[in-house]
Amino acid sequence: MEYLPSQTRYEKINYVRCGRSGLKLPQISLGLWHNFGGVDTIQNSRKMLHRAFDLGITHFDLANNYGPPPGSAETTFGQILKKDFSTYRDELIISTKAGWDMWAGPYGNFGSRKYLIASLDQSLKRMGLEYVDIFYHHRPDTETPIEETMSALDQIVRSGKALYVGISQYSAEQTNRAAEILKELGTPCLIHQPRYSMMDRWIENGLTKVLSEKGIGCIVFSPLEQGLLTDKYLNGIPSDSRAGKKGTFLRRESITADKVMKIKKLNELAVNRGQSLAQMSIAWVLNNPVVTTALIGSSKVEQIDDAVNALNNLTFTNEELKTIDEIILI
Ligand code: NDP
Repeated sequence: MEYLPSQTRYEKINYVRCGRSGLKLPQISLGLWHNFGGVDTIQNSRKMLHRAFDLGITHFDLANNYGPPPGSAETTFGQILKKDFSTYRDELIISTKAGWDMWAGPYGNFGSRKYLIASLDQSLKRMGLEYVDIFYHHRPDTETPIEETMSALDQIVRSGKALYVGISQYSAEQTNRAAEILKELGTPCLIHQPRYSMMDRWIENGLTKVLSEKGIGCIVFSPLEQGLLTDKYLNGIPSDSRAGKKGTFLRRESITADKVMKIKKLNELAVNRGQSLAQMSIAWVLNNPVVTTALIGSSKVEQIDDAVNALNNLTFTNEELKTIDEIILI
């Protein structure tokens, strides 16, 4: 069936300037780490992409290794893109990354020029694209000189294979250095992709200051702690949840009684605010002025609706923020 996007797709979400760049990103972005791989049903992946775009989510985040198997999320995305979104390419911000283990031998991992350039070429082929909007170095590599990695990012922009570049998981200090080198090269660092949620606040300890000073945007991943900060695990571990499935990074053992107790208290607070816990968790990350967009994942269309409806209430009273801190940090 032919896909025709909703005519009202730009009415629900705000688009926020990414650092001091010219690019605006939707307050909610969708990541394809899970549920878009070769092991997943393409019909469901397709439905989620349709719903996201219908609601105004214009930014889709990928990486060379997303699947499983690695590479298959890009292949699935490329197929759906070709079928449904080819006339909307200029309405989309598509990102991919390289930095983790991708192919055998010494050239399929970390941060060398050899790896980054070859990996992006492979990603473009899998997605059937001529360029991506944002290309990231996926994680810091302390062995490769940072000058080489940044110069590879600069080369990638100059070659036209990416419009902007970013970094992910870099510390405050590494970000500072990377941003300085990129500035000297004439290709500013557009964006940083760190992990951030009510339960993981490491970016507040130096990184957000660097991002503000350097005018770098911030897209935060796992704002729902992979599903933990939702009402999903209040009464056990559903078999179709990420923690209930084998081979994921949310291990069953990590859903401890202490965490469930905290989630129950957070859930009560969310309900009192008239939100689901997932919505309050998204609103909480967006409440940090440095954060440009919340990068969520989803396994079902309804979760995308839930996320976008978080935008109906983004404000917190001081009392609510204090209660959240007390629940999580004590
Ligand atoms: P989230 O913290 O948003 O977790 C998403 C998962 O939570 C969903 O797949 C779903 O899991 C569950 N969920 C989502 N909404 C709801 C809801 N309303 N109610 C109940 N459960 C819900 O993010 P992810 O951990 O998936 O990461 C998001 C993206 O961030 C990735 O796709 C990727 O693009 C990026 N990322 C980047 C990394 C990096 O190193 N740069 C590392 C990790 C992620 P379930 O299957 O249980 O339904």
